Amino acid sequence: MSSPPVVRVALPTPLRRLFDYRAGPADDRAIVPGTRLRVPFGQRYLIGVVMELAASSELPYERLKPVLERLDPQPVFDPTTLALLGWAADYYQHPIGEVIAAALPKALRLGVAVDSTEERWAATPAGLEAYARGEPRRAPRQRQLLAALAQVDPSSSTGRDASARAPGFAAAELDEKLRSWRDAARALIARGWLAAIETAPLAAASSAELPVVGAGPEPNEEQRLAIETVCASLGTFGGFVLHGVTGSGKTEVYLRVVERALRLGRSALVLVPEIGLTPQLVGRFRHRFAVPMAVLHSALTDHERLLAWREAFSGRARVILGTRSAVFAPARELGVIIVDEEHDTSFKQHEGGFRYSARDLAVVRAQRAGVPVVLGSATPALETLQNVITGRYARVVLTRRAAEAAPPRLALIDLRSSAVRAGISTPAVQAIERHLAAGGQVLVFLNRRGYAPTLLCTACGWIAPCRDCDARLTVHLSAARLRCHHCGADSALPERCPQCGFAVKSVGQGTERIEETLAQLFPGIACIRLDRDVVRRRGDMEEAMRRMASGEARILVGTQMVTKGHDFPNVTLVVVLNADQGFFSTDFRAPERLAQTIVQVAGRAGRGEKAGEVLIQTEFPDHPLLHSLLTEGYEGFARAALMERRQASWPPFSRLAAVRDSAQTAEAALAFLTEARKAAEELRADGCGSSGSRISGRGIRLLGPAPAAMAKRAGRHHAQLLLESADRGALHRFLEAWLPALESLPSVRRVRWALDVDPIDIF
Ligand code: ADP
Ligand code: ZN
Ligand code: ZN
Repeated sequence: MSSPPVVRVALPTPLRRLFDYRAGPADDRAIVPGTRLRVPFGQRYLIGVVMELAASSELPYERLKPVLERLDPQPVFDPTTLALLGWAADYYQHPIGEVIAAALPKALRLGVAVDSTEERWAATPAGLEAYARGEPRRAPRQRQLLAALAQVDPSSSTGRDASARAPGFAAAELDEKLRSWRDAARALIARGWLAAIETAPLAAASSAELPVVGAGPEPNEEQRLAIETVCASLGTFGGFVLHGVTGSGKTEVYLRVVERALRLGRSALVLVPEIGLTPQLVGRFRHRFAVPMAVLHSALTDHERLLAWREAFSGRARVILGTRSAVFAPARELGVIIVDEEHDTSFKQHEGGFRYSARDLAVVRAQRAGVPVVLGSATPALETLQNVITGRYARVVLTRRAAEAAPPRLALIDLRSSAVRAGISTPAVQAIERHLAAGGQVLVFLNRRGYAPTLLCTACGWIAPCRDCDARLTVHLSAARLRCHHCGADSALPERCPQCGFAVKSVGQGTERIEETLAQLFPGIACIRLDRDVVRRRGDMEEAMRRMASGEARILVGTQMVTKGHDFPNVTLVVVLNADQGFFSTDFRAPERLAQTIVQVAGRAGRGEKAGEVLIQTEFPDHPLLHSLLTEGYEGFARAALMERRQASWPPFSRLAAVRDSAQTAEAALAFLTEARKAAEELRADGCGSSGSRISGRGIRLLGPAPAAMAKRAGRHHAQLLLESADRGALHRFLEAWLPALESLPSVRRVRWALDVDPIDIF
C-alpha cells in the first residue's frame, strides 16, 4: 500500500520555501492544491495553503508532521490563480507564504469558512420596542449592542450587493464595532431581545441567466473597432492597449466588452486606481448590468472584504470591480480583465514586503487564464507603449472625444516674464476672468496641499523643520497647524520664531493659499477646494462634485485628486500652476509623471460642448520634453522620452531592482547595503549561485548604495542600492542567488529592508 501523499504548504512566514506535511489518513478525500490547512508549526498552529502534492519529501515520511485540520471542502484558489501567485512570488522574489497571505482577505487567513453561512445577530421585535423605551437603562454595554442592532441600515454600503444583504449584523462585524459584545449578547438573549440567525449560503447565479443590459450610447466608429478588436480575442489571451484621450469613451468600450463576456457566460475583472473607484464609476457598471457585482477596495472593513470576496468566489458576482489587490480576486469563468488608467502608480504596491504591480500581474493572469486584457489610458506608461512598439500588445486608439467636444488648446505661461501674485500669473488671472465672464468654470491645479510649504523667520532665517524627516513642515493656516506631509507630525502653528522671537511668515503656495488668493481676486465667485485635507470623510468629495455640477461653484482648486475620474462638462479653463517639479527630479520617471498629470488635468477641460483652454505656468518654457508635449501631444512626448530612456538605458530598455533599507542611523542603513553590494560583487566574481547553477553576473550593474533623496523619514534613515540589467532573466537569476545571502549578513539585524523589483520611483 502506498503512503498518502505529502502536501507542500505555503505558510505565512518570511521563509522562502514550502513546508511538507503528511496528509492525515483520517481524511479520505483527496487534498487538492489551493486548499487551506491548519498545520503544526513549531509550538504553534498556522493556516496555510496547499501549493502542490508530492510523492515524497526530503524528510522520511514518518518524520513529517500530520496536517491538523483541513479548512476547505474545495480550494480557495483555482489552479490559474495559484499558479499566478507562485509566479508572483518568484518574479518579485518574495516568500510564497506572504504572497498568498496578501491575496486572501484577513478573515480567511484567520480560518473563517469560505461559504456564506455565517453567524448573524439581530434584535427581536421585543428588543426593538425595549430599545425605543430607552432600555436597558442600567447596562450600558447591552444598550450599546442593542443600539447598534436597532440601527442597521439596509442600504449601508458594503462590498456586497445591497439587495442581497442579510438582516442584522454578522458576528465578525460586531467584533469590529464593539469590544466583548458577547457577554452583553448573552444577557439580551436571556431577556428575549436578541436572536441569532443563521443565513444560508447564497445561491450561485446560473451562467445561463442573461444579464439584463441597460442602454448605453451607440458606439462610434472608433469605439466599435476597439470593441470588435478586443472581443475577437475573447477566449484567448491578447494584450490590448486602449489609448484614448480623456473623454473619448474608453469606459464605454469597457462596458461593451464586459457585456460581451457576460453574454458568453463569463465574468469580468475590472481594476481601477485607488482614486478612480468613484461611486460614479461603480454606478455606471451597476446600471448597465443586472448581475451581482463585487466591489473590492482598500476602505472596506475586514468583514466587508470577506463578503465581497465570497460574492466573487461563489460565482454569484459576475463583475468584480476593485483596486490593486483585486487582481487576486477569485473570479469564476473569467472572460476578460480590464485595467483602467493603467499608467497610475497606485497599481504598484510600493510599501511593505510584497511589492507587486497589479497591472503587470493582470497581464500575467490574463495570459494564464487565456483571456484578453485591456490596458486603458489617455497617457499609457512608457513601458506599455514600448510593449506596443515591440508587438507584445496591440494598440487600439480613440482619437476623438465621444460627445463631439473639441480637444483643449494647450499654452505655456512663462513665469520669468510675467507678473506673478501669490503663485498666479497675470495672464492666468486674465484668462480666469475671461472664462468666468463667458459662463465657464475654471479648474486650478497645484500638486501641493496646505497653505504654504515653508514657514520662515525673516530675521534669523529659521525654517520650520520636521524633527523626524529631512523635510520642512507645511503650514495649514485655517487649522493653525504645522504638519509634516511625510511622517504626519502635527504641532501648533507658532506666531513667533522659536529662535529669535521675531514674527514668522508663510512662504510659497499650497492649495489652501491659492483658494484664499482666488477669493480675493474674484469676490462673489464661489470657489471650492479638493485635496486630502478637505476630503476627510466619505461624502465630502461627492458634495464638492455636486456643487461643481450644479454650477453653484465656479472655480475648483485641487491637487492630483481632481485629475481623475470626474467629468466637469462646464470647465472650459484649466490652469496648471507649477509644471516644474517634474523636470528637475532625480527620478528618471518624473517627466513622464508630469506629462501624464498635465494631459490628465487638461482632459478635465471642455468635456462638454465648449472647447477648453489649458494654461501651464512654467519657468522653463524651452524644456525639450515640455515642448514636444505641447506641439505633438502625449505621443510626441512619449517618443522623445523613450529616446532619452534608451540613451540612458533606463527602463523599459533595462530592468531595475532596488534594495531599500532603513535604520536608526544613516551609517547602519548604508552599512547593510555596502555589505550587500560586496556580497553581490563576490557573486559576480565566482558566477555561481548557492544552488550550484551558473549565474552570469556580467551585465548586472550595481548603483549605490546611496542615501535616499529624503534620507530621513519618520525618524528612520533610508538608503538604497540599485541593480540594473538589460537582461531580465539574468537579473532575476542573480537576485535569486543573492537574496539568501543578504538574509545572513551580520548587519541585517540593524535594518528593515525590502526588495522592489521594477520599482516605480527612484529616490
Ligand atoms: P473615458 O472613459 O475615455 O474618459 P467615457 O466612457 O467616460 O470616456 O465617455 C465620456 C462621456 O462621453 C460620457 O459621458 C459617456 O457617456 C459619453 N459617451 C461615450 N461614448 C459615447 C458615444 N458613442 N456616443 C455618445 N456619448 C458617448
Ligand atoms: Zn528667527
Ligand atoms: Zn516628518
